[in-house]
Parts: sequence; structure tokens; C-alpha cells
Amino acid sequence: MRRLFPLLRPYRWLAVFAAFLALVQSFTELYLPTLTASIVDRGVVFGDTAYILRMGAVMLAVATASLLAAFVGARCASLVAVGFARDLRSRLFAHITRFSLHEFDKVGTATLITRTTNDVAQVQQMVFMSLRLMIRAPLMALGGIVLAVAQDAKLSLIFVAAIPLLAAAIAVITRKGMPLFRSVQERIDRLNLVTREALTGVRVVRAFNRTEYEEHRFNEANEALTETSVRVNRLMAAMDPVMATTMNLTIVAILWLGAVRVDLGELQVGSMMAFIQYAMHIMFSLMMISMILVMIPRASVSAARIADVLSIAPEIKDPEVPVEPEVDRGVVEFENVTFYYPGAEAPALSNVSFRANPGEVTAIIGSIGSGKSTLVGLLLRFYDVTSGSIRVDGVDVRHMSQQALRERIAYVPQKALLFSGTVRENLRYGRPGASDAELRQAAESAQAAEFVERLEGGYDAFIAQGGANLSGGQKQRLTIARALVRRPRIYIFDDNFSALDFKTDAKVRQALRRETADATVIIVAQRVATIMDAHQIIVLDAGKVVGIGTHQELLRSCQVYREIVASQLSEEVIA
Ligand code: ADP
Ligand code: MG
Repeated sequence: MRRLFPLLRPYRWLAVFAAFLALVQSFTELYLPTLTASIVDRGVVFGDTAYILRMGAVMLAVATASLLAAFVGARCASLVAVGFARDLRSRLFAHITRFSLHEFDKVGTATLITRTTNDVAQVQQMVFMSLRLMIRAPLMALGGIVLAVAQDAKLSLIFVAAIPLLAAAIAVITRKGMPLFRSVQERIDRLNLVTREALTGVRVVRAFNRTEYEEHRFNEANEALTETSVRVNRLMAAMDPVMATTMNLTIVAILWLGAVRVDLGELQVGSMMAFIQYAMHIMFSLMMISMILVMIPRASVSAARIADVLSIAPEIKDPEVPVEPEVDRGVVEFENVTFYYPGAEAPALSNVSFRANPGEVTAIIGSIGSGKSTLVGLLLRFYDVTSGSIRVDGVDVRHMSQQALRERIAYVPQKALLFSGTVRENLRYGRPGASDAELRQAAESAQAAEFVERLEGGYDAFIAQGGANLSGGQKQRLTIARALVRRPRIYIFDDNFSALDFKTDAKVRQALRRETADATVIIVAQRVATIMDAHQIIVLDAGKVVGIGTHQELLRSCQVYREIVASQLSEEVIA
């Protein structure tokens, strides 16, 4: 929790005010029983109506003040808590979006979501409760005891029996509860994970008839969460009867022993009434203290989970003094690049060197898992190279700001991803300032214009989350259009053409040649036909470059390339 305190700073004055109101509320509440005592013992006993009315008015004023303090205090406290939670969430979100892909892999998306939502809610509740109760509860307990003793010291001996009993019960219950809270949060994580997987993968789940299996998995996670929650709640529920019993027994004892003392003339009736009220204040305060004691461990589990995320320093950082390339041409150079995925034993790329020039198409071909996507990911600096260097316009990508680097690049990912929103919004993702005419031209080049115009609403047609209402090829064409809208120096196409039929593939590439005439184009492909006319083709095999050259050159010199060509030719012949 301490690690999150700095975020409370903007709310400190409001918090102080809330605390002050809590103080006012406590004092007024403690004052009321004293007033009761004087009204009964002086007004009622002696039949002094004027006194009763006067003190009654005072009592009304004090009660109103107390109510007001309670009302405004609660409002201030909730403003602090809600504002703090909002800030915490945006801080978390901003921090997480700066994570490199490695950190996402490491922490896990599901738990990041729980931490941004559920855990923040826990902390928020904690802040609210603290502001409301942290001052009031101890003050009321102490004040209650002092004032009760002032009313009748002998009768106060009852508390010597009652309070330790209560305290012991609270201690036992909270001690048992703490380990359960972490478990609850972890099980919420698990439930989140299973739900997300089952829902995002619904097509696969259906196709493989695994609905029941997924239901089973969900139920397991659900049951686990339920079971722990029930245990926590059962434990907490034990608190209530223990409290109520102790409280009622205490009141009975006060009435009994008090009556004896009233008989003896050692205690007045009004004082006894006040005494009972103090007893209730004391017990209630202890209950509130126990609630805080329960909440603190629970919230600190959540706070620690949040602070852990905030303390992860993203591996990919901008340099202190970013270097801007002096030219803006889009020359890409790989020099002896070797890369291991974190924790991997074999390199995903080893000793890769090549140069991609503006105005040329550099194609990368290789079997699945040969490192093609890894190579372009490194250029985008999704990860940092293990050794060697990657330069854009002569500057190492690690020396540039990520913004400056990625500004120069338009990237079409292997897995077509669109966002929920209109077609127009999705295309403008490429460049926010693009005009409608530019969007249309990009769509035309990507062979997307035709189907977009057929959609209901055309460019205003709505795309569902993840582009679920489009076919794979349509999504792919829109992602290509989105990249074209960007008009950068460097284009990266990661295996996007295999989702298109041969004819569309050819058309898109023809249009691309026009659109990207003086840019550096890097095309990852599986089909030889897609890249045959590239200026240079890089053949990857198990992370190593086994050939660089034109189609003709490679046919002569590169065994792996010949095999790829041969396998595809025979496929076409058979087809
Ligand atoms: P390609 O795009 O050529 O099919 P990739 O570049 O995606 O191949 O993958 C190259 C190798 O790196 C594969 O062996 C794959 O298992 C591994 N790999 C890919 N992504 C990750 C990752 N996030 N973490 C660990 N290993 C990975
Ligand atoms: Mg790939």
C-alpha cells in the first residue's frame, strides 16, 4: 500500500477535510449520551420542562451537526477514493501499454486485467473505509471508555470482561482470514483467464466440440473461486453473532448491575442510559476496527499486486538522448543480428545481415518457424537484439525514440487485427490526419474498396471487435489499406498475401508497386509467386540466412530456395 501513497497526493486536502469531519462526527456522537443523561437526571427527574426544552434544542443541534458531518464526510471520502482509483487505473493502463511483448508474455493478460479492475476496486474501498473509520473507530472506542468511566467507574469494570473477549474473537478471525484473501484474488485471475480463452476462441471450441470441456474448465475455476469466497464469508459471518452476543450480554450486565446501583442511590437513571449508549459506541467501534483489520490485509494484497505491475520497468526503453537520423530515406540494415527469445535455448535468428534499400522490394521467404516474423518484429523494436545491430537510415534502432522509429514504418501484422469501430476509423488508425480521398485510394490499392462499398454504410460500416464480421481475406486487405494510409518510408508486410487468392494477390502487388515506388518494402511471404520479382530475396532457414539474391540467382545458387520453388511448382501443377 505504501508504494501507492504518492498517487493520493492530489487528494490530500480533501482527505484531510474528510478526516476532520470524521473527527467532528465522533465528538458530537460522544457528546449526545451526556446530553441524554442531563435531560433525564435534571429535567425529567425534577420535572423542569424549561430545562428539557432548552437541552432538547441543544441536543437537536448537536445531532444535526453530527448528521451533516457524517453526510459530507462520506461524500468527501468517496470522492477521494473514487478519484484515487481512477488515477490508479489510468496509471496502470498507461504503464502496461508501454510493456514490451516480453512483459506481456511474462505477466499474462488476464491478471493484468484483474489488477486494473478488481484489485483497484479493493484498494479504493480500503481508502474509503480508512477515511471514514480509521479516525472515528479508535476515537469512539477510547472516548466511549473514558466517558463511561466518568459516568460510573465501578460499572465500567464490566468492560474489563467484555472487551478482551471481543478482541480475542476478532484476532482469531482476522488471522484466519488473511491467507484466504490472496487466494481469492488469484482465483479471480484464473476465472478471467479461462473465460477469456473460451470466449475469444469460441470458433475453435465449437469446431472441436469442446464446449463441454470448456464449460467444465470454467466450472472448475468458478467452483474454486466460490469455495474460497464462501470460506472467507463464512469466517467473516462468524464475526456478527460473536459481536451481537457480546454486545447484548454486556447490555444485560449493565442493566442488571446498574439497577442494583440505582437502587443503592449510587447511580442515576440518566447516567445509566448514557452508559449503555457508550457501551454500544465502544462495541461498534471495536467492530469497525475489526472490519478495518480485515480489509487492510485484503487491500494490501491487492495493493501489492498493483504495485508489482507498476514496478515492472519496461525492457524496451527510449534512450536518454534519442538520435534522429539525419536523412529520411528508409534504408534498413541488419548487421550480424542474433536474437534469443527470453528463456529460449536456441536463437530464433543467428547472424542475420542484409540491407534493404528505398525503391526496392526485399522479400523474406522460409518455412514456418524459420524466424520471419521475428525478423520484422526486431525491426519494429518489439524486442531488442541479443547481439549485432539494426540500423534505420544509419542509426541503431535502440538509439532512436520508439516513436520516431515507428513513425517511419507501416506494418501489416501476420494476424490481421482490426479494432471495433467504423471502416473509416480503422483506416485512419494508419494516419489520423488522412483525408477521405486518401482513405479511398488506399482501400482501392489494397483491393478493399469494392467490398467496403458493398457493406451497409460503406466507409461508415461498423466493424465488430477483432473484425469478426469480416472474412480473413477482407480483414487482411483492410490492414494493408491501413498501412498504405500511413505513407511512411518503410513498409513491412508479414505474410499477408497467402490469405489472398492468386488474382487478388497479383492485383494488390501491382497497386503496391505504384504506391510504394520509392519506399523500402519488406515482404514476408510463403508463396514464391508473390516475391518472384522482388529486387532481393532473403531465404531463411531455422533462423539463418541461407541465401540472398534475385529469383534467378537463388535458383542457381540456393538449395533451400530450389526446394521451396519445386514444392510449390508441383503443388500448382497438381492443382
Ligand atoms: P515465422 O514467422 O517464420 O513462421 P517466427 O518468427 O514466428 O517464425 O518464429 C521463429 C521461432 O521463434 C519459432 O521457433 C518460434 O517457436 C519462436 N517464437 C516465436 N515467438 C516467440 C515468443 N513470443 N516467445 C518465444 N519463442 C517464440
Ligand atoms: Mg510468421
